[in-house]
Amino acid sequence: MTTEKGAATLNAWAVAQHQFDLAAEKLGLDPGMRKVLREPRRELTVHFPVHMDDGSVQVYTGYRVQHNLSRGPAKGGIRYHQDVTLDEVKALAMWMTWKCAVVGIPYGGGKGGVVVDPKKLSAKEVEALSRRYFTEISILIGPERDIPAPDVNTTPQIMSWFMDTYSMHVGYTVPAVVTGKPISLGGSEGRNEATARGCVYTIVDAAPRLGIDLKKATVAVQGFGNAGRIAAELMVEEGSTVIAVSDSTGGIFKADGLDIARVGAWKKEHGTVVGFPGAKEISNAEVLEVECDILIPAALENQITGQNAGRIKAKVVAEAANGPTTPEADEILYEKGVFLIPDILCNAGGVTVSYFEWVQDLNRDHWSEAVVNAKLKEIMDRAFFETVAVSEREKVNMRTAAYLLAVKRVADATGMRGLYP
Ligand code: NAD
Repeated sequence: MTTEKGAATLNAWAVAQHQFDLAAEKLGLDPGMRKVLREPRRELTVHFPVHMDDGSVQVYTGYRVQHNLSRGPAKGGIRYHQDVTLDEVKALAMWMTWKCAVVGIPYGGGKGGVVVDPKKLSAKEVEALSRRYFTEISILIGPERDIPAPDVNTTPQIMSWFMDTYSMHVGYTVPAVVTGKPISLGGSEGRNEATARGCVYTIVDAAPRLGIDLKKATVAVQGFGNAGRIAAELMVEEGSTVIAVSDSTGGIFKADGLDIARVGAWKKEHGTVVGFPGAKEISNAEVLEVECDILIPAALENQITGQNAGRIKAKVVAEAANGPTTPEADEILYEKGVFLIPDILCNAGGVTVSYFEWVQDLNRDHWSEAVVNAKLKEIMDRAFFETVAVSEREKVNMRTAAYLLAVKRVADATGMRGLYP
C-alpha cells in the first residue's frame, strides 16, 4: 500500500485492500477467493451535464461501485464531496460488504459518489444534479439490485428526489429503491439517528469491559453532521460530558462540557460550530488529541494516522466514520491499549435501519421507533459480542476480528454459490 506521509497521500482503496489482505491471510483463504473478494464486481463512472442557474451547463463526474453481491443486493450510501475519487468509492463499497456481513443483514456492498461541493450549488442545482446522476446510474439500481442511501452531504431530501426520479422512469412509486427517505415517503422511524445510535450502543457495550463509567466519561467528536452531532447528543443522554467537537471549518473545546443542543442550534444558524459562545477554538487536529475517555471520529477517512495516533489520549475510539484510522495508526493504538470499535461494526447501525426501512417498504409496513431501536440494539449487541469473542479467541484487535467474521461470511456465501458459468 501507499507509504504513509500524511493523510493527503493515503489511498482509501489501498487501505481497504490491506485490511482485507490481513484477514484473508489469517483465515487462510483460498487464492482464487482472495482474487475475487479483493476487487469490486462492478464500477460505473458517469459524466453528466447539469443546467446551472446562470444558464450555463456544467459536466459532473459520478460513480457507483458494487463490491460483492453474494449475500444480497448492493447497499451503500451516495456521497457528494469535492474530493470524491473512484478509489474512495471502491473502498467504501468494499467496507459496506464487510459491514453488512458483520451485522448479518442480507446485502452486498455498494457505494456511490459525485465530485461536487454541494454547498456551492443552489437547491435547484442540487436537485437537477441528483436527478440526472440517479438516472445515469439507474442501469445498476433497483430495489432487488442496488439500494442507495445517504452519506456525506446527502440528505433525506436528496433521497426523495432519487426515489421520485426512479419512480418516474418505471411509472409507479418504488419506495424500496432508496433508504434514508423522510417518513412521509416510506422512511423508517429512527433511520436519521441510526448510525449514531448504533455507534453509542457499541460504546455502551464496551464501557463496562474497560471500567468506564459513562456518567463520568468525557467525549470528543470529530464531524458534526448526521453521525457526529447525533452521537454527541446520545452520549449526553448517557450522562457523558462532550468536551470537544469539530466540523470542516474547525473545532471547539469546553472543559466542563458543551451544551450540544445549543451547539446544534448555533451550527444551524451560522453554518459552523466555530464561534460558539463560551468555547475555546481549537483546530480539527487538536480535537482528535484532547484528553478524553471516548473519541468519536465522525467525518472522513484517514484522520488518525501514523503521524498523530501516538498523541491520541482517548481510551476508546468509536469509528462512526468510515475509514478514519489507517493501518499504521491501528497498530499504534492497539499497542497503546486503546480499545477501537471498528467502522464496519461501529457505524453499522445506519445500514441496519436502512435494511429495516427496505423491509418495511417491500411489505408496505411501518414500525414504531421503539420496535426499530429494539431490533437495532439486538443486532448491534450481537455483532459487538461476536467480534469481541473472535478478538479474544484469535488474540487480534477488534478491526481484524470484525474482518475475520465478515470476510468468512462473505467467502462462505461466495464459495457456496460457486463460479458462474
Ligand atoms: P454529514 O455530511 O452529515 O456530516 C459530515 C460532517 O463532517 C460535517 O459536519 C462536516 O463539516 C464534517 N467534516 C468534514 N470534513 C471534516 C474535517 N476535515 N474535520 C472535521 N470535520 C469534518 O455526513 P455523515 O452522514 O454524518 O457522515 C460522516 C461519516 O459517517 C462518513 O465517514 C460516513 O461515511 C459515515 N457514515 C454515515 C452513515 C449515515 O447513515 N449517514 C452511515 C455509516 C457511516
